[in-house]
Amino acid sequence: MTRTDYAVRATAAGGYLRGFCGSYRGCVSEAARTHSLSRTAADALGRVLIAASLMGLTLKDDDDLLTVRVSGNGALGGLIASCRADGYVKGYAVNPGAEVPALAGGTTDMAGAIGSGTLTVTKDLGLKEPYVSSVPLVSGEIGEDVANYFLVSEQTPTAVCVGVALDSGRMRGESTQVTAAGGFLIQATPGAPEPIAAFVESAVVSMPPITKLLAEGLTPEGVLTAAFGGLDVEFTARAPVGYRCDCGEERVANALASLPIRDLRKMRDEDGGAEIKCHFCNKTYSFGKPALEELIRERMAAFLEGLRSNEREK
Ligand SMILES: [Zn+2]
Repeated sequence: MTRTDYAVRATAAGGYLRGFCGSYRGCVSEAARTHSLSRTAADALGRVLIAASLMGLTLKDDDDLLTVRVSGNGALGGLIASCRADGYVKGYAVNPGAEVPALAGGTTDMAGAIGSGTLTVTKDLGLKEPYVSSVPLVSGEIGEDVANYFLVSEQTPTAVCVGVALDSGRMRGESTQVTAAGGFLIQATPGAPEPIAAFVESAVVSMPPITKLLAEGLTPEGVLTAAFGGLDVEFTARAPVGYRCDCGEERVANALASLPIRDLRKMRDEDGGAEIKCHFCNKTYSFGKPALEELIRERMAAFLEGLRSNEREK
């Protein structure tokens, strides 16, 4: 399967509406493989990954980082997805193997799998403090929950549709096969007249499931055109999206170095080293005694320098 995921950006109604739409089959397949996701987890985490990616596309700067955290008391235990402005996303489920019986018709019981809880969005825009906002889950379907977040936390009327379709004939032991995955996000821009805001709220209601449209061969451009329902649509960007973890030796070492010195010493003396596993891609980073020694030396030097500069200021 060489089909590449991509997302498009468009405006409509003289710029009062903007929309994003993408196909994410490869992305959700990659997540399912990486984390050995159950069918339930593949559907749920897939939706959160797609939603986070579409929200990421609304960011302005390449360095901005957006994280969506769905915390509930259901079997999945929680879902996390993180994305930058390019739409490449990574994520994980707290209980990736959790399976909840499907509803009549074969759809995933999202409300049952996620439970009641909250949706939290963190935006790190390079300012002193990240922006954090949390809203209660309204349905656990993710699309509705993200739309509710935009309305409540950002006062922006938004329609969000995300969907994942899975192969029904999976054999035991095989990884979950994703047959279609995608989503769109439409929102009114600031100052949009009232009828336009009302249009946004009706945009999802009248649409067939996005996975059905994508499986029938509709492109993200076609889906977004349909969602804008007859309005003049102008496409302004098209770019690949997908699953990508940006962890690395240096990033992990920095996280390790931020631990208290006594913890680093304990790892050095009692454990003989440290093994850190990345939650997003399951890659393991090993730090031997010499590497920990070096981190401790650097931390001590920084600590003493801090003391000295304090004394100079007195
Ligand atoms: Zn990683």
